[in-house]
Amino acid sequence: MNKVLDFKLDEQIMEKINRFSRTALTAEQVYAFPVALCDNEIDRDGERFSAEALGKLAKLFVGKTGIFDHDPKGEKQSARIFDCETVQDETRVTSCGEPYTCLYAKAYMVRTAGNADLIAEIDGGIKKEVSVSCSIGKKLCSVCGADMNRDPCGHIKGTYYGGKKCCHILDEPTDAYEWSFVAVPAQPAAGVVKHFGEEKDFSQEVRSLEKRLAAESARTQKACDMLKREIISLSFLCRPVMAVETVKILTDKMSFEQLTELYHSLKKQAQQNDEPKPQLVSKKTDGGKSGENSRFRIAG
Ligand SMILES: [Zn+2]
Repeated sequence: MNKVLDFKLDEQIMEKINRFSRTALTAEQVYAFPVALCDNEIDRDGERFSAEALGKLAKLFVGKTGIFDHDPKGEKQSARIFDCETVQDETRVTSCGEPYTCLYAKAYMVRTAGNADLIAEIDGGIKKEVSVSCSIGKKLCSVCGADMNRDPCGHIKGTYYGGKKCCHILDEPTDAYEWSFVAVPAQPAAGVVKHFGEEKDFSQEVRSLEKRLAAESARTQKACDMLKREIISLSFLCRPVMAVETVKILTDKMSFEQLTELYHSLKKQAQQNDEPKPQLVSKKTDGGKSGENSRFRIAG
């Protein structure tokens, strides 16, 4: 990692920088510095980049301009990324259990009288919070791999499933727009804030919620159907016996709670009817038939 952070303005680096300048610059004319753009750790939105996505972003960010947007004088200073790469830290594991990978960029600016203070601040390590803007092709559920834009699942970000925290994996970036230094870090731990090119798409969240509600409703419907069947069988054991059609009409518009209540009251009634009767019945049957029947009744 130090190799990325410590670099000298040697010939190789100057050649890379000069690919972006109209006139050939000398090492004395430029100021170059490393920037940590983003990583594969879960961010405050419950999202994280895949290692592959970071690799693609490394290519997309080369040549992109960064802005220092909090200059009190309103003078916007800018720097340009001339090199970008992902660096894996073998000693660190993300909360998802993957090797920690960070996207590092090298940026340069032409030294002027106006940016001497800014350069001193960067050298002093003050301006470290970076905000990046890019567009992401795919958002995948970390639990089941569902494409959250096309076919969202019911898993909830931040919730644990089988001991693993659910997050959305940002995959297949399509473009990188810009990056900027911001005054206040919204994500203090990482010092990186991510914004996405596209507006926050609430329709995804709504679709996901609708899907969960539909699943919930299907489960309730299934439970209601089961209760209705139980009620019909129980109604045979109760006196007076009601016709199946009558029971069906009666239970048709009942809510799950009402069905549960009716089921329990019928069950209670059936048990009460059942308690003294088996003895009477078994006595009768015992009289004429084999003991098998009585054993069956007691067991039932
Ligand atoms: Zn899922």
